[in-house]
Amino acid sequence: MINSIWTGLVDIVFPRNCVLCRAWHPATARDPLCPACRASLAWNTPPFCVRCSRHLDTVSEESLCPSCRAHPPHFDEGWAITRYEGPAREILHKFKFQDKTSLRRTFTTLLNQFITRYDLRFPGDPWVIPVPLHGTRLRERGYNQAALLAAGVAEELSLTLREDILERARSTPRQSELGAKERWTNVKGAFRIKNPAAIAGRAVILVDDVLTTAATASEAAKTLKDAGASRVTLITLAIAPCGSCAITS
Ligand SMILES: [Zn+2]
Ligand SMILES: [Zn+2]
Repeated sequence: MINSIWTGLVDIVFPRNCVLCRAWHPATARDPLCPACRASLAWNTPPFCVRCSRHLDTVSEESLCPSCRAHPPHFDEGWAITRYEGPAREILHKFKFQDKTSLRRTFTTLLNQFITRYDLRFPGDPWVIPVPLHGTRLRERGYNQAALLAAGVAEELSLTLREDILERARSTPRQSELGAKERWTNVKGAFRIKNPAAIAGRAVILVDDVLTTAATASEAAKTLKDAGASRVTLITLAIAPCGSCAITS
């Protein structure tokens, strides 16, 4: 009884809306999405590419997506929670303008459900490391979306967040302005390790917002592995469907 009065009071004092459609949504609901938006979310579903988890339209013998066949990425495995379309695309877009805390909570809620659904394990007490932005880009944008998501991953999985390990060595043209092939050359040597002694023998969960060709995440993973990281698992909120990853020339 007291509990339900309290719940009612919280909803009156702190009313909340669905992060996507703004429909009224009880502040006490753990899910920041209303039921309708949740139902329209495009989850990333099997069959998965064994390397990057991209949904495969057809299952080949090696179970790799066209992108991983053309450019095997340097991370050991990747998990993307949603497809980069519809609501997931909107969530990432809104990250730029809206309350970052509630959007981070949207991400961690989705992440948690995805981990439970596919019984994912992250052994070896990995450090959670975001794909960094270059200082210039960071100043332009004011924040690093991957870092916000990485903080959510670390919190949800009770792991250590390390933003002092990986950095951008140089500013690179935006990947979104380049073709698939150019993206792989554009990011070559783009990262460096700030603290090489710390990373040796460490398992890492690398976090980024969206995976398209995987070029950036792969280069970041290569940098970590060259410095001695034992295993790199990639987690992204969204992944582009095969259609846009298949362009390799
Ligand atoms: Zn909604
Ligand atoms: Zn793949």
